[in-house]
Amino acid sequence: MADTKIVLPDSEIPRSWYNILADAPHPPQPPLHPGTGQPIGPDDLAPLFPMDLILQEVSTDRAIPIPDEVLDVLSVWRPTPLHRAKRLEREIGTASRIYYKYEGGSPAGSHKPNTAVAQAFYNARAGRTRLATETGAGQWGSALAFACQAFGLECKVYMVNISYQQKPYRRVMMETWGAQVVASPSPDTNAGRSIRERDPESLGSLGIAISEAVEDAATREDTSYSLGSVLNHVLLHQTVIGQEAQRQLALAGETGIDVVVGCVGGGSNFGGLALPFVGDKIAGAEIEIIATEPAACPTLTRGPFAYDFGDTAQLTPLVPMHTLGHDFVPPGIHAGGLRYHGVAPIVSQLLLDDLIRAEAYTQNDCFAAALRFARSEGIIPAPESSHAIKGAIDAAKRADESGTSQAILFNLSGHGHFDMAAYESYLHGSLEDFELPEEEIQRALRAIEPLPKPAGAPA
Ligand SMILES: *Cc1c(COP(=O)(O)O)cnc(C)c1O
Repeated sequence: MADTKIVLPDSEIPRSWYNILADAPHPPQPPLHPGTGQPIGPDDLAPLFPMDLILQEVSTDRAIPIPDEVLDVLSVWRPTPLHRAKRLEREIGTASRIYYKYEGGSPAGSHKPNTAVAQAFYNARAGRTRLATETGAGQWGSALAFACQAFGLECKVYMVNISYQQKPYRRVMMETWGAQVVASPSPDTNAGRSIRERDPESLGSLGIAISEAVEDAATREDTSYSLGSVLNHVLLHQTVIGQEAQRQLALAGETGIDVVVGCVGGGSNFGGLALPFVGDKIAGAEIEIIATEPAACPTLTRGPFAYDFGDTAQLTPLVPMHTLGHDFVPPGIHAGGLRYHGVAPIVSQLLLDDLIRAEAYTQNDCFAAALRFARSEGIIPAPESSHAIKGAIDAAKRADESGTSQAILFNLSGHGHFDMAAYESYLHGSLEDFELPEEEIQRALRAIEPLPKPAGAPA
């Protein structure tokens, strides 16, 4: 059994990020200014982001070097292990080989520090001393709090009120790394104050918290905004995952992977694992690449491709993406990190170009897969990651039904140690499934009707 975990020596940590925009058949269409509707340029983003990150956002260079200072921090937990899930294979009785890349060993317990560290570094180098961000369940906030601590930056986190109430330990984790955490909507911003006036009991949403963090950063010289997913530079920073996996699969003697699976909230862990393989696919490899999402927030499978805002208060640029509408508030499923109305423009464009496909699952099916995984492989997955496990198990079943043996790879984006309440509900049979009624989606989509339409969108 010695070969079930494939580790790379520290010296094999990737030295550059892989930029899919060098190889993709169609680049994503440009973001538009929320006021003028015109394509935005680097200067429009300068109040929010340091120039290094803005240039990465628009770069088409294939390989972008990772600074030594970033590698130094990443090497605390990278390279991450690739596991062959032999016990899971035996449990489901498949003839296929299932591999998973485990990102739960980072200090914050997910893939998110891969980009948090890079973003904190570039901000510190540009002379910013403070970062503002939002967090839903707390994974992104804790990743950024850790990264800010590593580079001596202050960190202000607007945490969605309901999670602030229900997930105190993620908040304490952020505070342990020195961040200031407030419940959103908060009294600290115009966006927060106006919502609290209308609805003093507001549970908050990711869209509201983004509005607060953007306003905070836009109104202070010393502060940048930091986003944990969706943007091109975030997906870029996550490509260390897929590049390591390519080397590890070669070490395992796999000459070609057949299926790659990742769960999608904003698209960053999926992109991080999948984009290097999308590059292989564009070069001719035959790979099925599957993005999996919750049926309760079915952005890729049921949301149209459209220009939309990233936030509720309509402060962010308009980005071309699959979206359920900026005022869509998804049901309170436990995979909090997958409850976002939009998805990365890069992932959206790859779906339009048929280089990837998407599947949506209900949360009881995902928890069933998570339990099979935990009981065979031992690691308790984050509820988000359980969507990737379900996708990989389904792919193995399809291969068995067609009498083939395939090599299947998925991203185990994080551990579920802070999600025991969700597991408890599942184990007690009290977890609800939500299939969104079509009227609910149509209602939410009315919010984007007046916005400009990207090319390739249905009229
Ligand atoms: C945040 C999070 C996700 C979803 O975000 P993406 O940007 O789509 O990756 C998935 N898994 C875990 C463990 C997360 O913390």
